[in-house]
Amino acid sequence: MVDYKSYKPLILKEIQDLHRIEVYEAGGGYQNLRKALVMKPEEIVGEVKKSGLRGRGGAGFPTGMKWGFVGKAKPRYLAVNGDESEPGSFKDRQIFEFNPHQLIEGCLISCYALDVETCYIYIRGEYAKWIDIVETALAEARQKGYVGKNILGKDFSAEIYVHRGAGAYICGEESALMNSIEGKRAYPRLKPPFPAVVGLWGQPTVINNVETITNIPLIIEIGAEAYSKIGAPDHPGPMLYGLSGHVNKPGIYEYPSGMAITDLIYDIGGGIRGGKKLKAVIPGGSSMPILRADMIEGVTMNADSLKKAGTSIGTAGMIIMDEDTDIVAAIARLTHFYHHESCGQCTPCREGTGWIEHIYKKFLRDEAEPRDIDLLLSLCKQIEQRTICALADGAAWPVRFSIERFREEYEKHCKTPESRGWNYKMKAVS
Ligand code: NAD
Ligand code: SF4
Repeated sequence: MVDYKSYKPLILKEIQDLHRIEVYEAGGGYQNLRKALVMKPEEIVGEVKKSGLRGRGGAGFPTGMKWGFVGKAKPRYLAVNGDESEPGSFKDRQIFEFNPHQLIEGCLISCYALDVETCYIYIRGEYAKWIDIVETALAEARQKGYVGKNILGKDFSAEIYVHRGAGAYICGEESALMNSIEGKRAYPRLKPPFPAVVGLWGQPTVINNVETITNIPLIIEIGAEAYSKIGAPDHPGPMLYGLSGHVNKPGIYEYPSGMAITDLIYDIGGGIRGGKKLKAVIPGGSSMPILRADMIEGVTMNADSLKKAGTSIGTAGMIIMDEDTDIVAAIARLTHFYHHESCGQCTPCREGTGWIEHIYKKFLRDEAEPRDIDLLLSLCKQIEQRTICALADGAAWPVRFSIERFREEYEKHCKTPESRGWNYKMKAVS
């Protein structure tokens, strides 16, 4: 088990006004950039590989491996994905607010390691307050010579731009994000080719989540080996856990990876609201398979443990549901979200999410038939793995897994003979 009681945050550090550059510098800020600039770029890529850092945006892909895939062509780009819009995910905005300079320092070290001169930090448009904070931090860093031409007097130049999203969830899908930056409609592109090879304007582009990039200065500071020992060995590093839903103390909490779900809910989160019992947890943003309360014993927040439990870590934004939750109503809310956010390019997603939402409305009116449960499962089968991007899978999973794990809740919403006014009480025929 991870020792979390004595843990001191390494990202959301407990330092007043850390968003101001003088405070960040006074605590050793931008020293890791200086350290990195005397290393060879390939050494930094090697350290990131060795650290075991995995992407914090949802898929948990090994960051060093992704960096290793980047094509040779130039120019290359870095795009930092801060479009977080997944229900249950609200961690990146804590970095924007409380430690924007560590993110900027991470962008600069990554640009140097990947031989990139242009970096975009893509922030969802609704995050107006946090966009202002990051832009102010960037202006400070530029003024101090950390961003721009010949950074710290070296033969290294990098410009960082903040790009605002405009309120569509699909912009967080990496290839849609690239189209959005290029000024096009945010339609996801077919993969492969992956962005690391053919990305922005057809050039190699590394796309990493905000939290992932904010870990880079830490790897340089303490070294890959020490980093790889923080938390769970298969998924190391500090982790920003989200707690939302029926928990006493919702919020974002930084602890080592590999925290037990029960510790997060009952110790960190103060337990279930109103002293109620837990019914279900979605571990990492709304797309991940839902777990019943009896499935979480001994499960920890790292890729291997969650896989064994039948789910994935996603963004580590846990949605907690108490015993009174109507699972059908909760998933119905999500189906509305996915239908609304589908970009409409693929028929299974555009039409399928609409049909799913339509059927859920029948359940909510208690007008569904038992065969509608199987109809939902069959729709999921027609959607999963048949579309351009993962939004459609993300729409189908909450439906499929909630039926597999809470079928009785769906049956309760079906019409009964009594609700139809039928009377089965027949007299015995003698
Ligand atoms: P993915 O598994 O297809 O890819 C993961 C990353 O690895 C991508 O950057 C991809 O380009 C790269 N990659 C994979 N194979 C590669 C290869 N052979 N060569 C080069 N690069 C390769 O996942 P995805 O579709 O990018 O992301 C889906 C995840 O995002 C889901 O888990 C979902 O939960 C999450 N998500 C997060 C948010 C949020 O708000 N943070 C929103 C929506 C979805
Ligand atoms: Fe658009 Fe859905 Fe197809 Fe993704 S799966 S490209 S969101 S229609």
